[in-house]
Amino acid sequence: MSQATDTTVREDGVIESVSGPVVTAKNLDAKMNDVVYVGEEGLMGEVIEIEGAITTIQVYEETSAVSPGEPVEGTGSPLSVDLGPGMLDSIYDGVQRPLDVLEEKMGSAFLDRGVDAPGIDLEKTWEFTPEVEEGDEVEAGDIVGSVPETPSIDHKVMVPPDYEGGEVVAIESGNFNVEETVAELDNGEEIQMRQEWPVRSARPTEDKQTPTEPLTSGQRILDGLFPLAKGGTAAIPGPFGSGKTVTQQSLAKFADADIVVYIGCGERGNEMTEVIDDFPDLPDPQTGNALMARTCLIANTSNMPVAARESCVYTGITIAEHYRDMGYDVALMADSTSRWAEAMREISSRLEEMPGEEGYPAYLAARLSQFYERAGYFDNINGTEGSISAIGAVSPPGGDFSEPVTQNTLRIVKTFWALDSDLAEKRHFPAIDWNDSYSLYRDQLDPWFVENVADDWPEQRQWAIDVLDEDGELQEVVQLVGKDALPEDQQLTLEVARFIKEAWLQQNALHDVDRYCPPEKTYRILGAIRTFNDEATDALEAGVPIDEITAIDAAPRLNRIGTTPDDEVDDFVDDLEADIAEQLRSLY
Ligand code: ADP
Repeated sequence: MSQATDTTVREDGVIESVSGPVVTAKNLDAKMNDVVYVGEEGLMGEVIEIEGAITTIQVYEETSAVSPGEPVEGTGSPLSVDLGPGMLDSIYDGVQRPLDVLEEKMGSAFLDRGVDAPGIDLEKTWEFTPEVEEGDEVEAGDIVGSVPETPSIDHKVMVPPDYEGGEVVAIESGNFNVEETVAELDNGEEIQMRQEWPVRSARPTEDKQTPTEPLTSGQRILDGLFPLAKGGTAAIPGPFGSGKTVTQQSLAKFADADIVVYIGCGERGNEMTEVIDDFPDLPDPQTGNALMARTCLIANTSNMPVAARESCVYTGITIAEHYRDMGYDVALMADSTSRWAEAMREISSRLEEMPGEEGYPAYLAARLSQFYERAGYFDNINGTEGSISAIGAVSPPGGDFSEPVTQNTLRIVKTFWALDSDLAEKRHFPAIDWNDSYSLYRDQLDPWFVENVADDWPEQRQWAIDVLDEDGELQEVVQLVGKDALPEDQQLTLEVARFIKEAWLQQNALHDVDRYCPPEKTYRILGAIRTFNDEATDALEAGVPIDEITAIDAAPRLNRIGTTPDDEVDDFVDDLEADIAEQLRSLY
């Protein structure tokens, strides 16, 4: 969170009333969305309503010791984040206060009140390398140089979007802290590594493109059946124990993104602690460096104040936009948007607003769509292209998808990965239900898969979908009359569908090899199952009984492709397909 930079002397207001996170003040000189400091302790808050002489403020800290009569001081600035090198490898609270710095200041992880800290280290120096020269013309947003922020990521230093731009009159390489000027323009504008940006406004872009590249995830069911685009939006509704955390972590590790912003929003303290404890130790499979070297974590547990939970998604997406502006592909995960919506509900009820469905404010849908709209594949104002893919977890109470947060999210996002507790109970992981899930990006991403993986990628996927659909219908009959009552070709369909489910859709996130599956391997596994299907159909037509077909000893090897190391897959599958053909043909 940035310190207020406006130095105008303004009138202090006086607290009129305190209701949980909502405080009203009289005679405060402030605008909508200004940051203010509340009470003797100077608790940070934000103006959310002004009516005549009464200003309503949501306070980001616990207000139990605040009383009417205490002063409120305005800052004249909206809630903003500090953008600059040092955000990666950081863990923040919902208003971008670094948790480790706060902890040091207070000697505990439980945040004290009235403690402020800048979002990025103001003293640390970075090695700046110019990318423009004196005499060059630069415009708002342009990249003037870079610093190695972490072993994985170069941080681009950009002309702030609200500058006019002009000719560079001074720029040099060297070590600078984030507040020192690294470049000067002829109109007097000075460029530092640190920028401030108000979290509730999207950073400007030139244009939004229709996404055409997938954000590959290394998860077969996602890449193969329900792909997300770079710049796309997805929701994962996750009943407890269904694998929400494991899925989000797999995405953070393996999704083909340069930067990960992970917003832990209001989950129980211990779940977030797990993430905070685990992430710093995780290696990045792409680079071999620590995963945190390309990750920024925002942690807002349910024991932190409700207003900070409301703001944490804005803090996160603004940080994501800054990296997008540098030309990076960012994956943003919000876990969980339900807790965010509950924070809105609580504040709204304190404001005595007219409630909408299930007590959520009437603007719930608008807020959700404003958030997801900030995702996309963009032409940036500096000529680079960058993307933000937004993946929101939803935790519907009791797993009931008809509740307002799930329903409103479904109207906005284009990919839906429905985690299912029945599958999780059967230990079918990832427990993503192939009947309820969907991706509206499928068709627009097909050309990429055709060009980069296989010509018949779309056709092979459709084959798998058809088999799974038929299997769904047959399973109902099987429950009534048993499998043996079915004709043999339908029994074969059941067997092929079983392989699709076990060898292709299931994937073990805890297995060293299987946890990440490149699209080529995803394609080959399904191809091998299809070979079995085609050869078995021929055998059946030649009169071979189904029991003999399913008993061939090559078939169970289909289940072992997933755990076969990537560089051995082609040989393994070539051999397996040859064995399947040979064994089945020998039966007739
Ligand atoms: P949630 O966050 O939805 O409560 P978790 O992500 O913690 O659920 O998953 C619960 C358990 O399910 C995990 O501890 C793990 O044992 C198992 N699990 C989930 N997904 C997978 C997976 N892809 N591979 C293997 N095990 C999984």
